[in-house]
Amino acid sequence: MSAVQPVSGSSQSATSQAYDSRAYDVVVVGAGFAGMYMLHRLRGLRMTARVFEQGDGVGGTWYWNRYPGARCDVESMQYSYSFSDELQQEWDWSERYAPQPEILKYANHVADRFNLRPDIQFHTRVESAVFDETANRWSVTTSDGKAVTAKFVVLATGCLSNARMPDIKGLAGFKGQVYHTGNWPHAPVDFTGLRVGVIGTGSSAIQSVPVIAEQATHLTVFQRTANFSIPARNAPLSADERERFRKNYPEIRRFAREEARNGIYTELPDRGALDDGDNERRSKYEARWQRGGLTFMSVYNNLALDKAANDTAADFVRAKIAQIVKDPDTARLLQPNSHPIGTKRICIDTDYFATFNRPNVTLVDIKSNPIEEILPHGLRAGGKDYEIDALVLATGFDAMTGSVAKIEIHGRNGQTLNQKWAEGPKTYLGLMSAGFPNLFIITGPGSPSVLSNMIVSIEQHVDWIADCVAYMRAHGFEAMEAEREAEDKWVAHVNEVAATTLYPQANSWYMGANIPGKPRIFMPYIGGVGPYRQICNDVAAEGYEGFAMISAEQPRKMVAS
Ligand SMILES: Cc1cc2nc3c(=O)[nH]c(=O)nc-3n(C[C@H](O)[C@H](O)[C@H](O)COP(=O)(O)OP(=O)(O)OC[C@H]3O[C@@H](n4cnc5c(N)ncnc54)[C@H](O)[C@@H]3O)c2cc1C
Repeated sequence: MSAVQPVSGSSQSATSQAYDSRAYDVVVVGAGFAGMYMLHRLRGLRMTARVFEQGDGVGGTWYWNRYPGARCDVESMQYSYSFSDELQQEWDWSERYAPQPEILKYANHVADRFNLRPDIQFHTRVESAVFDETANRWSVTTSDGKAVTAKFVVLATGCLSNARMPDIKGLAGFKGQVYHTGNWPHAPVDFTGLRVGVIGTGSSAIQSVPVIAEQATHLTVFQRTANFSIPARNAPLSADERERFRKNYPEIRRFAREEARNGIYTELPDRGALDDGDNERRSKYEARWQRGGLTFMSVYNNLALDKAANDTAADFVRAKIAQIVKDPDTARLLQPNSHPIGTKRICIDTDYFATFNRPNVTLVDIKSNPIEEILPHGLRAGGKDYEIDALVLATGFDAMTGSVAKIEIHGRNGQTLNQKWAEGPKTYLGLMSAGFPNLFIITGPGSPSVLSNMIVSIEQHVDWIADCVAYMRAHGFEAMEAEREAEDKWVAHVNEVAATTLYPQANSWYMGANIPGKPRIFMPYIGGVGPYRQICNDVAAEGYEGFAMISAEQPRKMVAS
C-alpha cells in the first residue's frame, strides 16, 4: 500500500533543541486562511511573527484536499476574505462554487499580494509548545529540530486538517494505491481503467464520486451512513453577477457578520415549517431545491429545533432521492434515516444521486454488511469479496480538536492541553483555555466555526485576537488567561444552547462521534455568528471580562482597564 503522508517531525524534547536566535512576539501555527490573515494583522501592529506550516505551501484545506470534484460549498463571492476591499474588488471567481485549484490560487494570490511568505516557514511542523511561567513566554519546538520563543502562540491549525485514517484489518497489505481525500497527491490521479473503491459517503465522497465514476471502469461506494445532499446548481459566474455582488459587498459582508446565524447572506426565515400548509411548504422547498446550495436549510426558522418541522424537509429530500435514483433498493439505501436533516453538515453535490444510475457504479451497505478486511486486491464486506485496484478513503477528519491534540502543549504547572481536554474540549469563547496563558485558538471548539461560513468566523477571531494583543501591549500586560469560572460558564452555555436543538441527535463529527473513544460533546457554538460576535465584542469592551490580565507588577491578578 502507498499513501501520501504529512511530514512527521522529530520527537526531541524542548530542552534538547537548538534555540533559534530569534525570539518572536507571536508564533502562528498553520498557514491556511486563518494563519495568513493573522500574520497580516500582526504585521499591521508591527509585531514580529513567525508562521510554521507543515505543508509546502499556503492554503491549508485547499492545499491538502485536492481530490477530484473538491470545491467550496459556500458560494465563492462569500467564501472569500472581506478584510481588504481592493482584494474583493479585484479577484474574479469563475464559478458559483470555485473548484479547489482556483481557491488555492486565490490563497497564493493573497500570500503574494500582502507579501506574507517571508514570515512563513513551510515544511515545518510544530511539535510542542511549553509555557515558561517565570518569563511568561512559550518555547515552541519544530520538526526541523529547532526551537523558538514567543510571547503569544496562535493555533491556526484548522478544524478539518487532521485526516482520519480508518483502522481496517489488512489495509497495510493492499497492493494498489490508497488515497485519503484530505491528503491527496499533488500530481493528478487518473482512475481510467481501474476498479475503484470509495469508503465513506460524507461531503468529500459526495463531491468526488461523480467525477471518479466518469473515469473508473467500475466504482464501488461503501456506505455506512446515508447523508442528505442538496444540488449545488454550480454554474459559471458572469461579469454582471460578480459586479452585483461587488457593488453590494458592504451590506452583504455586514449582514453575514452581524445578522446571519451562519455567516451567509441570505433571506432570514420568518416562520416555521408547520405554519404553512402542505402545498405551500412543498413549493418553498422546491424553489430552494431548484436554487441549490446551503440555503435550503433556511427556508424555515425551526428546522434545527423541531423534529416535526425537520421531518417535512427530510421527507422532501428523501422523495427527491427516490425520484432521481432508478433502482428502488439503491434509492432506499441512499435515503438518510438515521439523523434529522442538517444535524450533520449538509452536503452540496453535482449529480451525486444520479451517479448511482450509471452501470459502472455499485453501492454497498456496510452498516448491515460491515467491512471485514482489506484484501491485497480487494475488500471483503458482509462475507462478499469486491475486486478493487485503487482505494479512496473519504473517511473525514478528527475534527476541531485533532490537529491541536497532535501538538504537545504544556501550560501552567506542566499540565498538557490533552490532559485538560480528556473529557472534551473546554474553552472560554472558543478562544482560550484556562491554564494556558497567551495561547489563542482560531475557530476553536466553543465558537461557531464549522457551523458557519468559516472565513467570516476566521476574520472575526483574528480581529479579536489582534485587538486583544494590541490592548495588552498598550496597557503593559505580560500575560492573559481565561478564568476558570468564566470558562465553566461558557462551556455550560455552549452545551445548553446545543441541547435546545436537534443537533446532538446525530452521530456527527460535530459530536466527535466519528472517532472511536473521542468524548461525545457538541463542540461548536450554535448560538449564531451574529450573537456570538456581540458577546466577544462586549467582553472586550468590558476590559476583557472573564480573562485575567497579568502585569509584571501584579502577577496573576485581574486588573481593570
Ligand atoms: C473539502 C473541504 C471543503 C470545505 N469547504 C468549505 C466551504 O465551502 N465553506 C466553509 O466555510 N468551510 C469549508 N471548509 C472548512 C475549511 O477548513 C475552512 O473554510 C478554512 O479553509 C479553514 O482555514 P484554517 O486556516 O482555519 O484551517 P486549514 O485550512 O485547515 O489550515 C490549517 C493549516 O495548519 C497546518 N497545521 C496544522 N497543524 C500544524 C502543526 N502542528 N504545525 C504546522 N502546521 C500545522 C495544516 O497543515 C494546515 O495547512 C471545507 C473543508 C474541507 C475539508
